[in-house]
Amino acid sequence: MKAAPFAYHRPDTIDEAVALLGEYGNDAKILAGGQSLVPMLAMRLTHFDNLIDISRVSELNDITAQGSEVRIGAATPHAMVGMDDEIADSVPLLTLATPHIGHFQIRTRGTLGGAIAHADPAAEYAAVALALDVTIEATSPRGRRDIGAGEFFTGLWETSLAADEILTAVRFPVWSGRCGFAVQEFARRHGDFAIAGAVVGIELDDDNRVSRCGIGLLGLGSTPKRATGAEHAVIGTPLGNVTDEQIGEQAMSELSDIPADLQGSAAYRARVGAAMVARAWNQASMEALNA
Ligand code: FAD
Repeated sequence: MKAAPFAYHRPDTIDEAVALLGEYGNDAKILAGGQSLVPMLAMRLTHFDNLIDISRVSELNDITAQGSEVRIGAATPHAMVGMDDEIADSVPLLTLATPHIGHFQIRTRGTLGGAIAHADPAAEYAAVALALDVTIEATSPRGRRDIGAGEFFTGLWETSLAADEILTAVRFPVWSGRCGFAVQEFARRHGDFAIAGAVVGIELDDDNRVSRCGIGLLGLGSTPKRATGAEHAVIGTPLGNVTDEQIGEQAMSELSDIPADLQGSAAYRARVGAAMVARAWNQASMEALNA
Protein backbone atom coordinates (compact mmCIF):
# COMPACT_ATOMS: atom_id res chain seq x y z
CA MET A 1 0.00 0.00 0.00
CA LYS A 2 1.18 3.56 -0.66
CA ALA A 3 0.49 6.77 1.18
CA ALA A 4 -2.42 8.91 0.01
CA PRO A 5 -1.30 12.01 -1.93
CA PHE A 6 0.11 14.94 0.04
CA ALA A 7 1.88 18.24 -0.66
CA TYR A 8 5.54 18.18 0.38
CA HIS A 9 7.16 21.28 1.94
CA ARG A 10 10.84 21.56 2.81
CA PRO A 11 11.55 24.71 4.84
CA ASP A 12 15.14 25.83 5.54
CA THR A 13 14.45 27.65 8.81
CA ILE A 14 12.34 27.23 11.95
CA ASP A 15 10.47 30.45 11.04
CA GLU A 16 9.50 29.02 7.64
CA ALA A 17 8.39 25.73 9.22
CA VAL A 18 6.31 27.54 11.84
CA ALA A 19 4.74 29.77 9.16
CA LEU A 20 3.74 26.67 7.17
CA LEU A 21 2.20 25.11 10.27
CA GLY A 22 0.34 28.36 10.93
CA GLU A 23 -0.95 28.38 7.34
CA TYR A 24 -2.11 24.75 7.14
CA GLY A 25 -2.96 24.01 10.81
CA ASN A 26 -4.61 20.62 11.32
CA ASP A 27 -4.04 19.70 7.65
CA ALA A 28 -0.27 19.66 8.17
CA LYS A 29 2.18 17.36 9.95
CA ILE A 30 5.88 17.67 10.70
CA LEU A 31 8.04 15.04 8.96
CA ALA A 32 11.40 14.48 10.70
CA GLY A 33 13.21 11.14 10.17
CA GLY A 34 10.00 9.53 8.92
CA GLN A 35 10.71 6.28 10.79
CA SER A 36 7.33 6.31 12.51
CA LEU A 37 5.26 8.68 10.38
CA VAL A 38 6.06 7.23 6.94
CA PRO A 39 4.99 3.64 7.82
CA MET A 40 1.77 5.02 9.32
CA LEU A 41 1.10 7.03 6.14
CA ALA A 42 1.99 4.09 3.91
CA MET A 43 -0.39 1.81 5.81
CA ARG A 44 -3.01 4.59 5.63
CA LEU A 45 -3.40 4.62 9.39
CA THR A 46 -3.22 8.40 9.12
CA HIS A 47 -3.29 11.08 6.42
CA PHE A 48 -2.28 14.72 6.13
CA ASP A 49 -2.65 17.00 3.12
CA ASN A 50 0.69 18.69 3.87
CA LEU A 51 3.96 17.27 5.17
CA ILE A 52 6.56 19.74 6.42
CA ASP A 53 9.99 18.12 6.21
CA ILE A 54 12.30 19.63 8.87
CA SER A 55 15.28 17.39 8.15
CA ARG A 56 17.16 20.21 6.32
CA VAL A 57 16.58 22.87 9.01
CA SER A 58 20.16 23.17 10.26
CA GLU A 59 19.10 25.20 13.34
CA LEU A 60 17.34 22.05 14.58
CA ASN A 61 20.40 19.85 14.28
CA ASP A 62 22.89 20.81 16.94
CA ILE A 63 24.18 19.77 20.35
CA THR A 64 25.25 22.55 22.74
CA ALA A 65 26.46 22.51 26.33
CA GLN A 66 24.78 25.40 28.17
CA GLY A 67 25.90 25.63 31.82
CA SER A 68 24.19 22.85 33.74
CA GLU A 69 22.26 21.62 30.68
CA VAL A 70 22.90 20.08 27.28
CA ARG A 71 20.55 21.36 24.59
CA ILE A 72 19.89 19.00 21.69
CA GLY A 73 18.13 20.21 18.54
CA ALA A 74 14.99 18.27 17.66
CA ALA A 75 16.21 17.06 14.25
CA THR A 76 19.45 15.58 15.60
CA PRO A 77 19.49 11.93 14.48
CA HIS A 78 19.67 9.16 17.09
CA ALA A 79 23.03 8.06 15.65
CA MET A 80 24.55 11.52 16.26
CA VAL A 81 23.20 11.54 19.82
CA GLY A 82 24.66 8.09 20.43
CA MET A 83 28.12 8.99 19.12
CA ASP A 84 28.50 12.46 20.65
CA ASP A 85 31.30 12.84 23.22
CA GLU A 86 29.68 15.78 25.02
CA ILE A 87 26.52 13.75 25.53
CA ALA A 88 28.48 10.68 26.67
CA ASP A 89 30.17 12.83 29.35
CA SER A 90 27.19 14.91 30.41
CA VAL A 91 24.03 12.84 29.75
CA PRO A 92 25.27 9.23 29.67
CA LEU A 93 21.74 7.85 29.95
CA LEU A 94 21.12 9.00 26.35
CA THR A 95 24.28 7.27 25.14
CA LEU A 96 23.26 4.06 26.91
CA ALA A 97 19.69 4.22 25.54
CA THR A 98 20.54 4.87 21.89
CA PRO A 99 21.72 1.36 20.82
CA HIS A 100 18.38 -0.04 22.02
CA ILE A 101 16.43 2.02 19.45
CA GLY A 102 15.58 -0.14 16.43
CA HIS A 103 18.43 -0.86 14.03
CA PHE A 104 21.35 1.26 12.83
CA GLN A 105 19.47 2.30 9.68
CA ILE A 106 16.58 3.56 11.80
CA ARG A 107 18.96 5.42 14.09
CA THR A 108 20.59 7.26 11.17
CA ARG A 109 17.22 8.69 10.04
CA GLY A 110 15.15 8.84 13.24
CA THR A 111 15.52 12.02 15.30
CA LEU A 112 15.56 12.77 19.02
CA GLY A 113 12.69 15.24 18.65
CA GLY A 114 10.71 12.79 16.52
CA ALA A 115 11.05 10.03 19.11
CA ILE A 116 9.84 12.34 21.88
CA ALA A 117 7.07 14.03 19.84
CA HIS A 118 5.81 10.64 18.62
CA ALA A 119 5.42 9.67 22.30
CA ASP A 120 5.45 5.92 21.82
CA PRO A 121 5.06 4.28 25.27
CA ALA A 122 8.04 2.03 24.46
CA ALA A 123 10.36 4.84 23.29
CA GLU A 124 13.69 4.86 25.12
CA TYR A 125 14.31 8.61 24.74
CA ALA A 126 10.87 9.39 26.15
CA ALA A 127 11.66 7.33 29.26
CA VAL A 128 15.02 9.11 29.57
CA ALA A 129 13.26 12.47 29.21
CA LEU A 130 10.97 11.61 32.13
CA ALA A 131 13.69 10.13 34.35
CA LEU A 132 15.90 13.20 33.92
CA ASP A 133 12.98 15.65 34.00
CA VAL A 134 14.04 17.45 30.83
CA THR A 135 12.69 20.70 29.43
CA ILE A 136 11.10 20.54 25.99
CA GLU A 137 11.17 23.67 23.82
CA ALA A 138 8.21 24.23 21.50
CA THR A 139 7.81 26.97 18.89
CA SER A 140 4.61 28.12 17.19
CA PRO A 141 3.38 31.29 15.42
CA ARG A 142 2.72 32.60 18.97
CA GLY A 143 6.39 32.26 20.03
CA ARG A 144 8.42 29.81 22.11
CA ARG A 145 7.48 28.02 25.32
CA ASP A 146 9.09 25.46 27.61
CA ILE A 147 7.25 22.28 28.60
CA GLY A 148 8.36 20.07 31.49
CA ALA A 149 8.67 16.37 30.64
CA GLY A 150 6.05 15.57 33.30
CA GLU A 151 3.42 17.59 31.40
CA PHE A 152 4.40 16.50 27.91
CA PHE A 153 3.13 12.91 27.44
CA THR A 154 -0.67 13.01 27.63
CA GLY A 155 -1.83 9.73 26.02
CA LEU A 156 -0.99 7.01 23.53
CA TRP A 157 1.01 8.87 20.82
CA GLU A 158 -0.35 12.12 22.24
CA THR A 159 1.49 15.09 23.70
CA SER A 160 0.73 18.58 24.96
CA LEU A 161 2.13 20.07 21.72
CA ALA A 162 -0.51 22.15 19.90
CA ALA A 163 -1.22 21.33 16.23
CA ASP A 164 0.80 24.37 15.11
CA GLU A 165 3.78 23.81 17.44
CA ILE A 166 7.16 22.34 16.54
CA LEU A 167 9.31 20.67 19.12
CA THR A 168 12.53 22.60 18.51
CA ALA A 169 14.93 21.28 21.17
CA VAL A 170 15.22 19.33 24.40
CA ARG A 171 17.34 20.54 27.32
CA PHE A 172 18.82 17.72 29.42
CA PRO A 173 20.13 18.50 32.94
CA VAL A 174 23.72 17.46 33.59
CA TRP A 175 24.00 15.35 36.75
CA SER A 176 27.34 15.71 38.49
CA GLY A 177 28.80 14.16 41.62
CA ARG A 178 28.66 10.46 42.39
CA CYS A 179 26.27 9.24 39.73
CA GLY A 180 25.37 5.99 38.02
CA PHE A 181 23.13 5.32 35.03
CA ALA A 182 21.69 2.20 33.44
CA VAL A 183 19.23 1.06 30.77
CA GLN A 184 17.72 -2.43 30.88
CA GLU A 185 15.03 -3.72 28.56
CA PHE A 186 13.67 -6.96 27.21
CA ALA A 187 12.69 -7.50 23.56
CA ARG A 188 12.23 -10.83 21.80
CA ARG A 189 14.54 -9.77 18.95
CA HIS A 190 17.23 -7.12 18.85
CA GLY A 191 15.78 -4.00 17.22
CA ASP A 192 12.17 -4.64 18.23
CA PHE A 193 10.37 -2.24 20.51
CA ALA A 194 10.93 -3.50 24.06
CA ILE A 195 8.21 -5.50 25.81
CA ALA A 196 9.24 -3.68 28.98
CA GLY A 197 12.24 -1.69 30.12
CA ALA A 198 13.65 0.79 32.60
CA VAL A 199 16.13 3.64 32.57
CA VAL A 200 17.66 4.67 35.89
CA GLY A 201 19.84 7.51 37.15
CA ILE A 202 21.13 7.61 40.75
CA GLU A 203 23.16 10.26 42.57
CA LEU A 204 24.70 9.49 45.98
CA ASP A 205 25.95 11.82 48.71
CA ASP A 206 29.18 11.24 50.63
CA ASP A 207 27.36 8.94 53.10
CA ASN A 208 26.02 6.77 50.26
CA ARG A 209 22.50 8.12 50.67
CA VAL A 210 20.44 8.56 47.53
CA SER A 211 20.35 12.33 47.00
CA ARG A 212 18.63 12.18 43.61
CA CYS A 213 17.23 9.49 41.36
CA GLY A 214 15.08 9.08 38.26
CA ILE A 215 13.31 5.92 37.09
CA GLY A 216 11.77 5.97 33.60
CA LEU A 217 9.65 3.06 32.39
CA LEU A 218 8.94 1.94 28.83
CA GLY A 219 6.36 -0.45 27.43
CA LEU A 220 4.47 -0.40 30.70
CA GLY A 221 1.55 1.94 30.05
CA SER A 222 -0.31 3.95 27.46
CA THR A 223 2.44 6.57 27.75
CA PRO A 224 6.08 6.46 28.82
CA LYS A 225 6.06 6.49 32.64
CA ARG A 226 8.08 7.74 35.59
CA ALA A 227 8.09 5.73 38.82
CA THR A 228 7.84 8.69 41.18
CA GLY A 229 6.61 6.64 44.15
CA ALA A 230 9.60 4.31 43.98
CA GLU A 231 11.90 7.32 43.66
CA HIS A 232 10.40 9.02 46.74
CA ALA A 233 10.73 5.79 48.71
CA VAL A 234 14.52 5.81 48.34
CA ILE A 235 15.50 9.48 48.20
CA GLY A 236 17.30 10.41 51.42
CA THR A 237 17.79 6.79 52.47
CA PRO A 238 21.09 4.87 52.48
CA LEU A 239 21.63 2.90 49.29
CA GLY A 240 20.70 -0.72 50.00
CA ASN A 241 18.02 0.12 52.59
CA VAL A 242 15.49 -0.95 49.98
CA THR A 243 16.43 -3.96 47.85
CA ASP A 244 16.62 -3.82 44.05
CA GLU A 245 13.65 -6.20 43.87
CA GLN A 246 11.55 -4.06 46.23
CA ILE A 247 12.19 -1.01 44.04
CA GLY A 248 11.10 -3.02 40.99
CA GLU A 249 7.90 -4.15 42.74
CA GLN A 250 7.18 -0.63 44.01
CA ALA A 251 7.59 0.80 40.49
CA MET A 252 5.10 -1.71 39.08
CA SER A 253 2.59 -1.12 41.88
CA GLU A 254 2.19 2.50 40.70
CA LEU A 255 1.02 1.48 37.21
CA SER A 256 -2.67 1.25 36.29
CA ASP A 257 -2.68 0.74 32.52
CA ILE A 258 -0.05 -1.88 31.70
CA PRO A 259 -0.85 -3.04 28.15
CA ALA A 260 -1.66 -6.60 27.11
CA ASP A 261 -1.10 -7.74 23.52
CA LEU A 262 0.29 -10.62 21.46
CA GLN A 263 3.69 -10.09 23.11
CA GLY A 264 2.32 -10.84 26.57
CA SER A 265 -0.31 -10.24 29.22
CA ALA A 266 -0.25 -7.25 31.56
CA ALA A 267 0.85 -9.57 34.40
CA TYR A 268 3.76 -10.86 32.31
CA ARG A 269 4.81 -7.32 31.39
CA ALA A 270 4.69 -6.31 35.06
CA ARG A 271 6.97 -9.22 36.00
CA VAL A 272 9.42 -8.31 33.23
CA GLY A 273 9.17 -4.62 34.16
CA ALA A 274 9.95 -5.29 37.83
CA ALA A 275 13.00 -7.32 36.82
CA MET A 276 14.20 -4.59 34.43
CA VAL A 277 13.88 -1.90 37.13
CA ALA A 278 15.71 -4.11 39.64
CA ARG A 279 18.56 -4.82 37.20
CA ALA A 280 18.90 -1.19 36.10
CA TRP A 281 18.80 0.00 39.73
CA ASN A 282 21.50 -2.49 40.69
CA GLN A 283 23.74 -1.54 37.75
CA ALA A 284 23.36 2.22 38.32
CA SER A 285 23.96 1.75 42.08
CA MET A 286 27.25 -0.07 41.49
CA GLU A 287 28.46 2.68 39.17
CA ALA A 288 27.48 5.42 41.62
CA LEU A 289 29.16 3.63 44.56
CA ASN A 290 32.40 3.36 42.59
CA ALA A 291 32.29 6.94 41.24
P1 FAD B 1 8.84 10.91 12.27
O1 FAD B 1 8.51 9.50 11.94
O2 FAD B 1 9.21 11.80 11.15
O3 FAD B 1 7.64 11.58 13.07
C1 FAD B 1 6.99 10.88 14.11
C2 FAD B 1 5.91 11.79 14.71
O4 FAD B 1 6.51 12.85 15.45
C3 FAD B 1 5.02 12.46 13.66
O5 FAD B 1 3.73 12.62 14.22
C4 FAD B 1 5.66 13.84 13.47
O6 FAD B 1 4.75 14.83 13.02
C5 FAD B 1 6.14 14.12 14.88
N1 FAD B 1 7.33 14.96 14.92
C6 FAD B 1 8.59 14.59 14.53
N2 FAD B 1 9.44 15.59 14.79
C7 FAD B 1 8.72 16.59 15.32
C8 FAD B 1 9.05 17.88 15.81
N3 FAD B 1 10.32 18.33 15.80
N4 FAD B 1 8.06 18.66 16.30
C9 FAD B 1 6.79 18.20 16.33
N5 FAD B 1 6.41 16.99 15.90
C10 FAD B 1 7.37 16.20 15.40
N6 FAD B 1 11.77 3.91 18.46
C11 FAD B 1 12.15 3.71 19.73
O7 FAD B 1 12.11 4.65 20.53
N7 FAD B 1 12.59 2.48 20.16
C12 FAD B 1 12.65 1.40 19.34
O8 FAD B 1 13.04 0.32 19.75
C13 FAD B 1 12.24 1.58 17.97
N8 FAD B 1 12.27 0.56 17.11
C14 FAD B 1 11.86 0.77 15.83
C15 FAD B 1 11.88 -0.31 14.95
C16 FAD B 1 11.47 -0.12 13.64
C17 FAD B 1 11.49 -1.30 12.71
C18 FAD B 1 11.05 1.17 13.19
C19 FAD B 1 10.63 1.41 11.78
C20 FAD B 1 11.04 2.25 14.07
C21 FAD B 1 11.44 2.06 15.38
N9 FAD B 1 11.41 3.11 16.29
C22 FAD B 1 11.80 2.90 17.58
C23 FAD B 1 10.91 4.45 15.92
C24 FAD B 1 12.06 5.39 15.56
O9 FAD B 1 12.89 5.64 16.65
C25 FAD B 1 11.56 6.74 15.08
O10 FAD B 1 12.63 7.36 14.52
C26 FAD B 1 11.02 7.70 16.10
O11 FAD B 1 10.00 7.14 16.87
C27 FAD B 1 10.42 8.91 15.41
O12 FAD B 1 11.42 9.75 14.98
P2 FAD B 1 11.41 10.32 13.48
O13 FAD B 1 12.42 11.42 13.47
O14 FAD B 1 11.58 9.23 12.50
O15 FAD B 1 9.94 10.96 13.41
